[in-house]
This record gives sequence, C-alpha cells and structure tokens, in this order.
Amino acid sequence: MKKEAKKTIRFFFLGMLGTVVIISMIVLAQDVVADQNLPDHVLVHFPDTLSGKNFNRDSLIYTVGPNKGLPEGYEEAALLALSAYPELRTVKVNMVLTQSGAPMESNFRFWSLFGSRAERIYEIRLNDADHSIFDGILLRDLPFDAQVGILAHELGHVVYYHQLSTLQIAKWGLMYLTSLGFRATHEKSTDLMPVYHGLGSQIYQYAWFVRHADVNREMYQKWGGFLDRFYLTDKEIMEEIKRISSK
Ligand SMILES: [Zn+2]
Repeated sequence: MKKEAKKTIRFFFLGMLGTVVIISMIVLAQDVVADQNLPDHVLVHFPDTLSGKNFNRDSLIYTVGPNKGLPEGYEEAALLALSAYPELRTVKVNMVLTQSGAPMESNFRFWSLFGSRAERIYEIRLNDADHSIFDGILLRDLPFDAQVGILAHELGHVVYYHQLSTLQIAKWGLMYLTSLGFRATHEKSTDLMPVYHGLGSQIYQYAWFVRHADVNREMYQKWGGFLDRFYLTDKEIMEEIKRISSK
C-alpha cells in the first residue's frame, strides 16, 4: 500500500475514534435523573374496576388522539390506558405484539431519535410468543384491569422519554443498563405513573396477579427477588395509593 493511502486510513480511524470519544463525553455529561417527574395530585380518575364496563370506542379513539397503534385483540385495554395520559395526545405511540423480548418493554424507533422530538415514534413491544418462558405474565394471561395497569406503566416510560433529548436518552440507557440502583428507582417510580393517572387499582391488580395468582406462584418463588427489587409490590402500591389519595 502506498504511504499516502496508509496515512489517509490512519487519519480516518483516528478521526472516528476522536468522534466516538467526544460523543461519549457529551453523553456522559448529560444530566438525567432516574425518578419520574411525578405530579403532586392524581390527574384523572377511573373506576377501580374497568372490566365488564361498556366504553364508547369512538370517543376513546378521539380522546387518545391520532398516531396511536393499538395491539390486535387488546385495543380496549390500550385505549383506556392511553386515555389516562392526555399529555401523549399528539405523541406517536405504537403498541405492537412481538414474538420475542421481555414480556413488555417501551422503546423507540431508533432512527426517529435523530429527527425532531415531535416526529419521534415510541414503540411498546408486547411479547405474545407461543410457549414462552414468560407464560403467566404476558399481556394475554392477565385479567383485563391488570392489562390496563401494565400498559399504563409502559406509557409512563414514554412520558419520561418524551421529556428527554436524544443525548439524555443515550445517558438514560447507559445508566439503566449499568446501574441496578438507577434501574430500580426508575421502574418503581414508573409504577407510580398509573397511580397518579387514576389507574392505581389497575397497576395494583397487575402487581398482585404476577405475584399471587395460582398460575404465577411457582414463577414468583423463583423470580420474586428480581421482581420485588425492581418493581413495587402489590402491598407497596396499595400504600402509595392511600398516601397519594390522602394528600
Ligand atoms: Zn417498566
């Protein structure tokens, strides 16, 4: 190889390395807190039991706003959870059933993070795989109210992401993956989002079902430590509901 070509390649790699170092430093310098920005009172009120009630689908669709993708077969639960978050009315959120991944996870279309915040597309992925190791806690296994509760938890993540710049989201991702304390604080704080959005009973019913329903007893004996470390227990949620409603 000619000397000039070698020099160009060396400059190119040094340039790449420099860019990665600079971007990493900028990401690390971002200020990101694990806690949700919680309101000081319950914003919306829903009945403690939503199951078996008739809701007007057209009026719910109007309430939640355009640009919402609903998971097939779970439209009503999704619409009810979305209707608790008026702040997401203009935000693009797709709820999609997947064949892999965590039981539920809130994410974003990667490339949409590089456009304007208004054009971001958030994606709530809901594992619906056959014969999953998560059988018992997947969306399809949950009672209706628990479905609404966990979808409201996932939407709480979307509210949080939407307050962050792309660089702050990168720092959040880094912290979430590397700090168990940050992750626990963030998830427990996100469990309070349904409570403040009027779906406290629904997130309570979710937390109870994944711990104490017959179908999950064995799973909870095995994974209860993980669950209780990162998420509020049913008892803790009940205490928070009482505390928040007595404010
Ligand atoms: Zn979560």
